[in-house]
Formats: sequence, C-alpha cells, structure tokens
Amino acid sequence: MSQVRVRIAPSPSGFLHIGTAKIALMNWLYARKTGGVFILRLEDTDAERTDEAYVQAVCDGFKWLGFDWDEGPPFGDEPEKGEYGPYRQSERVEMHRRAGQRLLDEGKAYKCFCTKEELDAERERARSEKRPPRYSGKCRNLSPEETAAKADARCVVRFKVPQGTTVVRDIVQGEVTTENREFDDFVILKPNGDPIFHLAVVVDDAEMKITHVMRGDDHLTNASKHVMLFEALGYEVPQFAHMPLVLDEHGKKYSKRLHGANVLDWRDDGYLPEALINYVALLGWAPGDDREVFSREELIDAYSLERVGQSAGKFDVKRLNWLNGQHMRRLPVQELLDRVLPLIHAAGYDTSGRSDEWLTRMAGICQEKLRTLNEIVAYTDFFFEEPNGYEAKAVKKQWQKEGASAKMDRITSLMEAVEPWTAETLHDAYEKLCEAEAVGLGQYIHPSRLALTGKSVGPGLFELAELLGKEVCLQRMSRAAGFVREMG
Ligand code: GLU
Repeated sequence: MSQVRVRIAPSPSGFLHIGTAKIALMNWLYARKTGGVFILRLEDTDAERTDEAYVQAVCDGFKWLGFDWDEGPPFGDEPEKGEYGPYRQSERVEMHRRAGQRLLDEGKAYKCFCTKEELDAERERARSEKRPPRYSGKCRNLSPEETAAKADARCVVRFKVPQGTTVVRDIVQGEVTTENREFDDFVILKPNGDPIFHLAVVVDDAEMKITHVMRGDDHLTNASKHVMLFEALGYEVPQFAHMPLVLDEHGKKYSKRLHGANVLDWRDDGYLPEALINYVALLGWAPGDDREVFSREELIDAYSLERVGQSAGKFDVKRLNWLNGQHMRRLPVQELLDRVLPLIHAAGYDTSGRSDEWLTRMAGICQEKLRTLNEIVAYTDFFFEEPNGYEAKAVKKQWQKEGASAKMDRITSLMEAVEPWTAETLHDAYEKLCEAEAVGLGQYIHPSRLALTGKSVGPGLFELAELLGKEVCLQRMSRAAGFVREMG
C-alpha cells in the first residue's frame, strides 16, 4: 500500500471542539501507527465565520494535545510544511474553479440560470405537495446556443448527478449504497465562481493525495456526493471512515456552549493532555483487551482502525478524572515539577529561594494525591507563606474540644525532641506517642496538619513537615497553640 496520508480539516469558525479533537486523534494515531503523514488543512472558505483568533485557538489546541502535523499552513514562527500546499482552503480557490470548469467542459456539469425566485417557488411547490425539495433540472438540457445567449447572466454551476447508484465504502460504517435519484443536481460553483464545500473538499483531498478520509459521521450523507465528484473528475476514490463525534453526559450532541466543549478548557482546568487523549481515544475506539491507561506511544501501538466504533461515547468526567490521576502518577517527578511550577508562579509564589532538589521533593510528595495540576497551589501554598487562617470546619473538629490545647502542647514537645528532622523520625515519634496513649495516628496527625498548613487535606504530614523544616514547624505550632488557647 502506498504511504497513508490523512488529514484533519477544521473550519476555524470556533475554538477546537472536543469532537474535532477526537477525529483529529483518530487520524493522527493512524498516521503515526502506519508511518503515514498527518496533514492539517484549514477549511477557511467561509470568510464571514473565519477568524484568525480561531485559527490560533484551533492550532493551539492541536499543539497542546501534541498532534504534530507533518504538513500544514504556517503557524506562529513555523513556515508552511509540505509539498501539497497551500494548506488553507481559501488559497486554493483557483484549483477548485479549474476543476469546476473541467466538469463543465466535459459535459459533467452545467450552468444554471434559474433565479432565486424561481427556485423558491419550486421549493414552495414541493413543500405544498409534500415532496422533498429538489431542483427540477430545468437548465440541465439547455443547448449550447441557449447557454451562450445568457453568457452574462448570473448563474451557478451544477453537477449533473449521473444515473445509477453510488457506493461509499466505509471502514466504520460498512458499504453505504445510495440511489443517485435521491440527489438533485447540486451546486458546485457559486455565482461568483467560488466553490461549494463539496467540490472544494474533493479537489483538496485528491490533490493532497489523501488516502483515507476520516471525519465525523455528520458528513456521511455528503460522502455519496463526494464519491460522484471523485469519479467524475477521474480521481482515485479514497477510503472513508466516518466516525461519531462526542456526546455529552446526557447522550446529546456535545454543545459548543458546554464547559469542556473547548479542548483548552481542560488545559485551563489542569488536566494533562495525555489523559485527555487517552480518554478521548477510548470514547472512539476499543483496545480489544481490558487495559484502560495508555500513554501516547501505547495508544499508537495498540490502535487499529478496525476497532473504531460506530457509536459515540457519552462524556464521563469521572472516568476522565480517574485517568488524569493515573497519568499524574505516571509522570516522572521532574516532569511533574516542570508542569506545576508555572502554576505556582502564576499564583504569585516565589520559588527562587528553594533548590531544585527541594522543589522536586515537594512535587514528589504531592504526586500520589493530586487529581489535577491546578490542585498543586492548594497543596503547596503553605510552603511559601504562613497559613493565613485555619479551615473552619477542621478547626471545629480538631480544636474546639476538650483537651485540644494539651494535645497541641504534646505535639510541640514531640517536635522539639525529634532529631534528626526527617519524615521517618517524625513518623516514629508520632507512632510511639499514639501507642502510649492508645489512640489512632489520626488523632495527632490531623491537628498537626491544621497547624502547619491551615488545611485538612494535603501531602503526607511527615513529608511536608520535613520539607518545611523544624524551625518553621515549631513556629507554626506555637502560633496555632496560641490560637487554640484563645478559643478555649
Ligand atoms: N471542514 C469540515 C468540518 O469542519 C470537515 C470536512 C471534512 O473533514 O471532510 O466539518
């Protein structure tokens, strides 16, 4: 087989939708799996809806997900890549026009001079007779003389839908056969000579030597028209794979207005791109065994087009959260640190006084518990500033009760005695104390955590205490003990 060439062809009239990301992923995985080429083509012919800010947003989304394109338009500092450009559809209009002209010259298309009023009336008649609205084909048989006589009149170019049936051979949907009489002679060139989507997409796919057209199943009905055009233009018909987009948690189309429809919402919420990719891959494709957690490379390795499903998965944020946690744990700790440091800085904390080793340990003690990157701030802010208050609910539970003050004193004495100041020695000392008092470790851990961090959850107490250092811990204990006394 010749080299696989696949493409994602978003229309930059909005942000990168999660459904488009799924289709891009299915294409990208297939290219990477087969040593093929992954192409980005911007279908920006709708000038009114296209916006450069959306071009940026869509490309940023692909970049964040790691879908590196082998061929595509210039982006940022990157020049155009590939030999089949331009990769913006709006710059290919001449090619589309030439193809339309070729169909005209070969008698496979014709000029239609019907006015809007005529077409409206025709449609109205069909409606009142409860027939599907179809173009009557009135201009199909105009003689060359009749056409020439109208040379300057406003016209569109329509494709002469041939008789017979059209078969779309689809890897996901199977063979889809349509009777051609279900289609009217559809427009391929507008009055100004610009192409209609169907012509543009076929010419671009053919000229870019696309071997597999894999896209949303909302284009399945268009595919029959595309097959007719590929054949009429003498192009080889590519393989098709129409796959479902993504549904929301209620099983409805994932609305643009919902949070998370924009891929970058997940980035902003602190999710890892590898987790989102893993999740979206499982929405569209079944691995064939019971594995759930896949790295990028593992996905490439396991991916097969044959196991892309026909039914759209419902978005299940719980599963995504779980996968995100799994990927957080899989990150090398240095890498985790690289990803969380910018968030700590953005929250206004200065880490310059800390060594790399200390910071890496800090990331390490959070790694087991973090569900998203964004949680890092709540998990570590107390390392960079004194707690500026104590969580009210925890105060009630830990400190507003008999003996709370005495407990704080015992913790302080314990800390004073611990030497050397390590997580292990602290752990031992707490264990001894709890054994002697015949109470669970939690009885001492929770009030200590509240004193040192102001919170009820966070990284392991002994580990964070070691990192804070003995002096700081004792200062914070003393401050908290004062607070408890005042309350009592
Ligand atoms: N531009 C089309 C869309 O965004 C994609 C067309 C195609 O993949 O063939 O839906």
